[in-house]
Amino acid sequence: MEDRNAKIKGPYLQRSIQARIEAFFLDNLGKVATREQLLKVSTDPVTGRQPENWHQRLSELRTDKGYTILSWRNRGTLKASEYMMPDAERRSTASRRMRPTSATWKKVLSKHNNRCAWIEGGITCNLKNGDIDPIGGGTVRLTPDHKTPHSLHAETDPKDPSKWQPFCGRHQVMKKNYWDDETGWLNVVAIVQSASEEQKRVVFKFLQNYFEDTP
Ligand SMILES: [Zn+2]
Repeated sequence: MEDRNAKIKGPYLQRSIQARIEAFFLDNLGKVATREQLLKVSTDPVTGRQPENWHQRLSELRTDKGYTILSWRNRGTLKASEYMMPDAERRSTASRRMRPTSATWKKVLSKHNNRCAWIEGGITCNLKNGDIDPIGGGTVRLTPDHKTPHSLHAETDPKDPSKWQPFCGRHQVMKKNYWDDETGWLNVVAIVQSASEEQKRVVFKFLQNYFEDTP
């Protein structure tokens, strides 16, 4: 039987994370790639730095470059943290990520007092351009978040301030990692994976109870 598993045939020395992931998938069409392999391929070949945003680069291969990359969500034979590019075909309709016009972006920023609008547990992030992110480090640069990326109105959305909000870089990554643009569902597995040991135990207990109650 043919091996279903992807192999890292690199070294992948492309400069960008996206290009390295793309080369890896193209070397492994129809094969099952794991999260660990993608992390390895994403790691900077020069500095050895492991990026946090590889998941975002992966979804850009879908949205910007038009590749099909399957996960357990759309292919039952795949497990969580497994991915597959079935073929090298690219949808011609794939377009660059939509952006607000600069006039709209100005309105969005002023509506939110030039601060990150991410809300968690009732608390707004509130970081502004030039701040040092106390959690992620680095200088904050606010960028537009399209609130409902799956209801695209390419004609009107770029001019409609109510469709956008400003996010800091950390919260852009958080939304991309934990929110599936294609389905509009929370990426529950990714959330649990990134949770603390203690939170994972709470989830584990919950699931044990849940399945015990299920006949
Ligand atoms: Zn933020």
